[in-house]
Amino acid sequence: MKIFIRGTVQGVGFRPTVYRVAKSLGLSGYVLNKGSNVEIGIKENENVEEFLNSVMKELPSIASIDEIELKDEPINGYEDFEIIISSEGEKTSVTPVDTAICEECVRELFDENNRRYLYPFINCTSCGARFSVIENLPYDRVNTSMRDFEMCEDCLAEYTNPMDRRFHAQTISCPGCGPKYTLYGRDKEIVEERDPIKSFARLIDEGAIGIAKSWGGMHIICKFDQANRLRKLYGRPAKPFAVMFRDLSAVEKYVELKEGEEKLLTSAHRPIVLLDKNPSLDDLDDISPGLGNVGIYLPYSGFHYVLFYYLNSDGIIMTSANVPGEPMVIRNEDAFLLKADYFLLHNRKIVNRIDDSVVRCYGGKFFFLRKSRGFIPTGIKVPYKDRVLSLGAGENVSFSISKNNNLYSSQYIGNTFHYPTLEFLASSKGQMMELIGLRMDEIDAIGVDMHPRYSTRRYGKKLAEEYSIELVEVQHHWAHAASLMLDAGVDEVVALTLDGTGYGVDGKAWGGEILHSLYSGFERVGSLEEIPLIGGEEAIKDPRRIVFAIFSLLGRQVPYFADKEAEVMEKLMKRAPKTSSFGRILDALSCYLGICERMTYDGEPAMKLERYLARGERKYEFETCVEKKDRKIVKTLPLFDRLADYSANGVGTEKKKADLAYSFVFALIEEMVDIAADTCVSNDIPYIGITGGVSYDIPIVRMTEELVKEKGLKFLTHDRIPNGDEGISIGQNVVVGHLRNRG
Ligand SMILES: [Zn+2]
Ligand SMILES: [Zn+2]
Repeated sequence: MKIFIRGTVQGVGFRPTVYRVAKSLGLSGYVLNKGSNVEIGIKENENVEEFLNSVMKELPSIASIDEIELKDEPINGYEDFEIIISSEGEKTSVTPVDTAICEECVRELFDENNRRYLYPFINCTSCGARFSVIENLPYDRVNTSMRDFEMCEDCLAEYTNPMDRRFHAQTISCPGCGPKYTLYGRDKEIVEERDPIKSFARLIDEGAIGIAKSWGGMHIICKFDQANRLRKLYGRPAKPFAVMFRDLSAVEKYVELKEGEEKLLTSAHRPIVLLDKNPSLDDLDDISPGLGNVGIYLPYSGFHYVLFYYLNSDGIIMTSANVPGEPMVIRNEDAFLLKADYFLLHNRKIVNRIDDSVVRCYGGKFFFLRKSRGFIPTGIKVPYKDRVLSLGAGENVSFSISKNNNLYSSQYIGNTFHYPTLEFLASSKGQMMELIGLRMDEIDAIGVDMHPRYSTRRYGKKLAEEYSIELVEVQHHWAHAASLMLDAGVDEVVALTLDGTGYGVDGKAWGGEILHSLYSGFERVGSLEEIPLIGGEEAIKDPRRIVFAIFSLLGRQVPYFADKEAEVMEKLMKRAPKTSSFGRILDALSCYLGICERMTYDGEPAMKLERYLARGERKYEFETCVEKKDRKIVKTLPLFDRLADYSANGVGTEKKKADLAYSFVFALIEEMVDIAADTCVSNDIPYIGITGGVSYDIPIVRMTEELVKEKGLKFLTHDRIPNGDEGISIGQNVVVGHLRNRG
């Protein structure tokens, strides 16, 4: 009998499990990796059921099985049971993900008598770096960057012993044969080779800023009290940093953990989790200035555990090491281009760059601000067989490829307005196609955004021409809605698609849209009123310009710019582009209330407003009004008019600001939900959903959910697919896949 198993079965200790079960049952035959699947041959047909039951019982924790197929084919030879050398085969499932060090390995790491005592590259069949080191499938050592390190006798003995935890662990190594860390100074001079992590830890404790190489990239590391020096060094005056804590009890000193957060923090994915700061402490204020939350994660590699073993600090800043806007650094020589006092580098090549994932919990749901390490690559089932490549939007880009009813989305790529990021996209695309066994000439269609200035769109066009592939443009917010539909498992929704900006079918900047969406098309049933963006992009960086435009249109006294400057603004306003963006309204509100008048990183004014929304109550009346044209247009100017009345004597206390902000946003969302609900009733749709970058804002999601439920409708949010633009490529992919299969 031959047994074919598909799923996450490579690099997860699956073959050793099969081997041990077969041996214990006295069976003869073989197990082998074939392409990305596993094939098992058993000579004793009558024992197959018992065998499979035992395998399922002993399945390694990170393995999962999608499909088992049995074929009655003769097995020749094999007096015993053996693992045979891998062979090429069909590639249908994906590479395993980087998985946090398991408890057993941590125990060994701190056992003085173990030969891997304090060895930073410790791992076993069920844990360690995977995607970040894999070049090709099948997952065997020769196809990983561990190829450069020849196993010593001791490691080989473990590798070949079926009873060992590291039996066929492809990334097995030890201090005698594996990769090594070396500590360098600013001039690339070697500072320490024997105890590099210990020295690095001491220097960090003393206040140094260091760069350390990890599995899929590098991090900038320093103590909390060095935050401001780091900000100056990298020109990030306010951007939040991620923080790594020693352990859970250290985390609990700074934040209050809510439902699901502890489990997520300690999971084998080990993402950065956005957690609410303890309001009575100000220790983390310099880490994420003006925000109510901070991104926290726990050690996930042997290196991190060893680092904290030597560190006095319970927590450190540990944030991606990159030139602002460019991808994270992965090559040793490039690390020295960054500003730091010390560089702790190892000699294993990073094959696939992969950033830390960032997740926020909402009830039992996960909002992925970045879906990467620990989660990618993962396949999502789709109902079409077409091979579609989709390239995302402009910032927070990912790409996706579908094949045989599976959709594979890439790791976080980043901001493609920077050329090195676009190069990263192109190389990752090549890498992923290799891993899933696809060539460009086998692609059926390419999905892109409609924005004429997005480099992803230009890249898609170029590929389409070069390989004569159909190119399909998918409107930005429709792609958001489609990604939500796939995430929630529905094929029709009325979605509030709220974000900063996206190119509309009328050539204007959309972003506060109510879409009735199907996979075959969409209708824009409503949107916010369009407001001018004085100087275009400039108005995003300087939200005072948005406030100026609004107050000028209202005929009220404008709070910013006087005399000459005001005249210039008035002039610029006449030819300013207009937008229906929800994000820009939040920016204007944040600015007017004096919460954030200047954007220094993407989304800053709206993110800082969130803390106020979280504390605010509905204390002020804001009447909305709707203009009926080809769509329902929710007026926003009257809300600002009212806001100005309420703050005639200044915006007042922090509490008043919070209540004003909450009441304002509530009125806006209430009107949008009303419009969405009308569309639901007339089209017999039971769902209203929320998607787009604004849907990371918990107070806004919460008020939307309450309002939707009051209408007796079901509320949909994201859970597996990123709410923001990293999810766009997935939405594009499903739209293109469905369009190709329409009738
Ligand atoms: Zn392990
Ligand atoms: Zn060894």
